[in-house]
Amino acid sequence: MRDYVSLFRDTPLKKRYNNGDLPIIAGYCAVPDIERTIEMSRSLSKLPNVVCVRGGAYKPRTKPDSFQGLGEEGLKYLVEARELTGLPIVTEIIDPGDVDLFGKYGVDVWQIGSRNMQNFPLLRKVGENRGKTPVLLKRGMSSKPEEVLGSIDYLGDTGLILLCLRGLQKMDYGNPEIARLREGMYHQNPEYRFHCDVDDIEPLKELLKDRNHVIVGFDPSHVSGSHVYVPKVSREAVEHSADFLLIETMLDNDERHGLKCDANQAITTSELEQLISELQKIYSSISR
Ligand code: PEP
Ligand code: MN
Repeated sequence: MRDYVSLFRDTPLKKRYNNGDLPIIAGYCAVPDIERTIEMSRSLSKLPNVVCVRGGAYKPRTKPDSFQGLGEEGLKYLVEARELTGLPIVTEIIDPGDVDLFGKYGVDVWQIGSRNMQNFPLLRKVGENRGKTPVLLKRGMSSKPEEVLGSIDYLGDTGLILLCLRGLQKMDYGNPEIARLREGMYHQNPEYRFHCDVDDIEPLKELLKDRNHVIVGFDPSHVSGSHVYVPKVSREAVEHSADFLLIETMLDNDERHGLKCDANQAITTSELEQLISELQKIYSSISR
């Protein structure tokens, strides 16, 4: 098993990490408002395994008229919540021009999303400016292993990189047979939002074994696209040796339709609590 205690030593993640635990990052897809941002951080800070709270302030969206995030206001909410609970924050940077802003607010972990995994000016700028700040790098939707390695190398090796697999794009045009020919793979479950790439965790870990500053985790939420499948995909990811999980959540009293982004895939914080105890058992049994 990886020595997370020394991996996390120079990072804010160490604050919450207990030796032998499966590290979990959880929280809203997008920061909603100050009250709920604080409440989310409070609820998660009471759960075991949660090392960091997530919440997008800048959201890359397919359509320009979709909710784009609260911007700097969202960063302020995250920071205010952190002051109250002490739980570190991870949020996505989409613009190289925001590097100073992320530094100013002391964002603990900088997320680079799947759409930007090969945005080389962004990778270069973040690599030059992050110092030892950890980066959560999400695998591109159709990226090959050598492309993932290239992106990691742009970021430099002075701080921890949390590489997160999040499912590969499906292009089935309504015909699974064509999809198989096009992409060389079967859809394990056509109801998932993305092709579930848990099978790639172990080969990628093997490929990265000389890069001691990289750990390989998994995002069951974006794979599933539905809260119903999140527990199943999470279990599969841990069984396939994921080093951490990134899970989108909502509060128990949130209305699902009130979430502005990825509403269908969020599980409640109570469901997360239950899931963590199950996942920890699997994690402990395989890492022994
Ligand atoms: C997210 O984490 O909410 C997100 C936008 O993820 P991805 O880049 O994997 O689509
Ligand atoms: Mn999301």
